[in-house]
Amino acid sequence: MISHNVLDQLKAIVGEKNVFADTISVSSYSYDATMLSGTAMATVFPVTTEQTVHLVKYLDSVNIPLVPRGAGTNLSGGTIPMENSVVVNFSRMTKILEIDTENFVAVVEPGLVNFDFQVELEKYGFYYPPDPASYKATTLGGNLGECSGGPRCFKYGVTRDYVLGLEVVLPDGQIIQTGGRNFRSEPGFDLTRILVGSEGTLGFITKIFLRILPKPAAKKTMLAIYNEVEDASQTVADIVAAGIVPTTLEMMDNILINTAEDATGAGLPRDAGALLIIEIDGHEVDMDAQVEIIAEICKKARVREFKIARTVAEVDQLWLARRVVIGSVARRRPSYSLQDVTVPRSMFPSAVKEIVKVRKDYNLDIGILAHAGDGNFHPLVLFDQRNKDEVERVHAVEKHICTMALALGGTVSGEHGIGLLKKHFIEMEFSATAMESFKKIKSAFDPNHRFNPGKIM
Ligand SMILES: Cc1cc2nc3c(=O)[nH]c(=O)nc-3n(C[C@H](O)[C@H](O)[C@H](O)COP(=O)(O)OP(=O)(O)OC[C@H]3O[C@@H](n4cnc5c(N)ncnc54)[C@H](O)[C@@H]3O)c2cc1C
Repeated sequence: MISHNVLDQLKAIVGEKNVFADTISVSSYSYDATMLSGTAMATVFPVTTEQTVHLVKYLDSVNIPLVPRGAGTNLSGGTIPMENSVVVNFSRMTKILEIDTENFVAVVEPGLVNFDFQVELEKYGFYYPPDPASYKATTLGGNLGECSGGPRCFKYGVTRDYVLGLEVVLPDGQIIQTGGRNFRSEPGFDLTRILVGSEGTLGFITKIFLRILPKPAAKKTMLAIYNEVEDASQTVADIVAAGIVPTTLEMMDNILINTAEDATGAGLPRDAGALLIIEIDGHEVDMDAQVEIIAEICKKARVREFKIARTVAEVDQLWLARRVVIGSVARRRPSYSLQDVTVPRSMFPSAVKEIVKVRKDYNLDIGILAHAGDGNFHPLVLFDQRNKDEVERVHAVEKHICTMALALGGTVSGEHGIGLLKKHFIEMEFSATAMESFKKIKSAFDPNHRFNPGKIM
């Protein structure tokens, strides 16, 4: 429960229309895209850096923790508020402050939605490569919080590879700027890289300097359909081993093909074991030769059908199916647990084989969705959280999958972050000494553990 005094102070800082403390509003911002939820005292929407500074200083003075939030689509419990905390929602800081096409730099506020940014850049013939499947909803601040990936990240790298600099409000209310417009790294410790992916635990990002790229002249989108998921995963390893770097190399198995098809009617083959969406970009003259090589590799791995999208509408349909698939699993079962492990690319077929086995051993519905080119895959376990026996098996599978990824030389999180959900798994990956270093970094920025408490460690 929030006191009248605190509520009045919050309203004085950000304005009455930017503070919500009624039960419905507060619970609306106490969820994210996991099955977890919490209860905050209030949600506030700062619209400037100065307001953020005042909020941080005031809440520090009354000993109230703060949870930064963008669109709340994270899949790790990263924005679940602990009791008695205030959610600081950046989704009203949406300005594009500058698009500098001469220097390939854009300066934006953290609440700008990734897709809206892409639409604006397109007018200048530019784009921003990191494109989480959720990009129509997610904010750039949230993308930085998690160091998000996305389909295009196979060729172009993840969020951290595009962040040149930041303006950040620290837990004591001071503002720092890290990096800036320069493409070479900043001198001293690389604070930008420490802050990107820190899940709102070290500082609040209020301004972002991003690297942007001119749009490639040409692209081709291909669909490879397989009877067996193992053949699709072998194709991924073969394409990578052949030294070809498509823009995207996405995989969906039979369960998720059907789920996406139920939601979109995109014309996906319901009887296929798996499919790959392969996209290449670059110069027009290179396109056909690359398509030919990729088609040949797919053929060797027993592809059933290999198609090239002929129209923009066909390309859009394929991507719609891919992008809605996580949201559409609610049609199948009421609950889901989405894993986010990454393995070395050459190990991808072994990991997929193991998931197929796990599905049988634990008698659970597990779909496989992957940014496959990166070895980053999302076994999507479908269940009903009211069924205790099923929930126990789901937890056992989560552990099994993380253990398997580590045994194959991988990591427990490729792009969704640790948040609350994967806290016990990060300890399987890092030594006690490494975890101690994490804690020291947290304490150096936030000695009173006021920013997004309880997350990561
Ligand atoms: C259907 C679906 C598909 C998805 N596909 C992908 C995908 O392809 N790739 C991928 O990587 N992820 C994906 N995600 C996960 C999610 O969309 C990403 O993690 C996204 O970047 C979160 O952005 P957001 O605006 O929702 O941030 P939130 O969920 O609100 O926040 C994410 C983290 O950032 C912190 N944060 C937010 N704003 C700030 C700020 N201004 N300063 C400091 N910290 C801040 C939060 O505290 C939290 O820890 C998907 C999710 C869904 C539901």
